[in-house]
Amino acid sequence: MEIQKVGVIGAGQMGNGIAHVMALAGYDVVLNDVSQQALDSALSVIHKNMARQVSKGKIAEEEMTAALARITPSLALADVGATDLVIEAATERETVKQAIFEDLLPHLQPHTILTSNTSSISITRLASRTDRPERFMGFHFMNPVPVMQLVELIRGIATDEETFAACQEVVARLGKTSASAEDFPAFIVNRILMPMINEAVYTLYEGVGSVKSIDESMKLGANHPMGPLELADFIGLDTCLAIMNVLHDGLADTKYRPCPLLTKYVEAGWLGRKTKRGFYDYRGETPVPTR
Ligand code: NAD
Repeated sequence: MEIQKVGVIGAGQMGNGIAHVMALAGYDVVLNDVSQQALDSALSVIHKNMARQVSKGKIAEEEMTAALARITPSLALADVGATDLVIEAATERETVKQAIFEDLLPHLQPHTILTSNTSSISITRLASRTDRPERFMGFHFMNPVPVMQLVELIRGIATDEETFAACQEVVARLGKTSASAEDFPAFIVNRILMPMINEAVYTLYEGVGSVKSIDESMKLGANHPMGPLELADFIGLDTCLAIMNVLHDGLADTKYRPCPLLTKYVEAGWLGRKTKRGFYDYRGETPVPTR
């Protein structure tokens, strides 16, 4: 089955990136959101990010113009029904995602593949509420989408081979690499990355090292491009905590217990870069460690 038209639901940080790479790869894209403001801002972010790619010589001006013309913004979920592949990238709340799929079902074509970009919600559970669990899977992009090479493809318990192969082909056409993951909490990348970040917070909490010594140790001693605490601030400490809770609840193993210091930063509203304070304080010229 050839995929030509893609529906992206949710025009936030991830949705705009997904629409960007899909349109550049030649797919027609319907970009849906409940908020007109989110749609307007997504289109302007996509334009700005593509213009940067043009100025760096990564794409030609004509490619940008053609790609932008392939994106149709829409407030009507029904418009997404006429696509071959749907990627749901709305707010990370199960009730929101379930309501989206429920409302979408009557408008879908029989062959349409449904996917979710969720970082933590069970693909099998989302699929079980639809009329096509065999044509449902996880399509998990990394942030920022135009830059990051990996896409995790997650099979639910019922996902069929044809669906998996069709999504693999889409990832290849995007010029990205797919990794196949089974549907268990946090999949592969976050299952490994988040416990490492959480352990870095424990190392800070127990006074083994300061913010600076922990980040420097992992950059210079393990060759990581960013220190774990710097990376946590970039991802968002609320997101890190939410994923640790998913691992802790879903795998019922105390090794995944979130560090109390991580909880404290989130309670303080110190969520990282997005609130200008996390393990570093970003309010001045250069980031200053907070411990
Ligand atoms: P975001 O808050 O930036 O965007 C979410 C968008 O969904 C908003 O524009 C909102 O208006 C829209 N929305 C809410 N309800 C909707 C509905 N009923 N119909 C249509 N649109 C609706 O969030 P994000 O960071 O882009 O995350 C989106 C998804 O991607 C989540 O499932 C998240 O887990 C996943 N994800 C996020 C990251 C990341 O680093 N941010 C990485 C990988 C995956």
